Amino acid sequence: MRFVRNLFRNKKRDKELPQLLNGDDYPDFWTQVEGFKKFAESVNQGSKDGTPLLVSEEVSKLRIEECGRCDYYDKQQNRCRKCGCYMKVKVKFTNTACPIGKW
Ligand code: SF4
Repeated sequence: MRFVRNLFRNKKRDKELPQLLNGDDYPDFWTQVEGFKKFAESVNQGSKDGTPLLVSEEVSKLRIEECGRCDYYDKQQNRCRKCGCYMKVKVKFTNTACPIGKW
């Protein structure tokens, strides 16, 4: 969470980052920040209750294949247009889920 807090201490980045992450196809910047916060919290919770941090290579491959067939998947950026997440990272973590329940 320190990363998120530090992100907004820099006034210059305050102006640049939303423009960098926003796009017409993606959720607005603050929705993406909320999504990242939930992601960080779920990873943190998983580490507390002993859940393995990462899924197997096979599971992450199945997840990314499912994304590849999805209309929300932006192949160029490897991002989900529904949640704004970078899928090559998100699919590897145990406590993450597709926002429309595909995995
Ligand atoms: S996470 Fe879900 S909604 Fe997003 S691209 Fe993958 S399958 Fe589609």
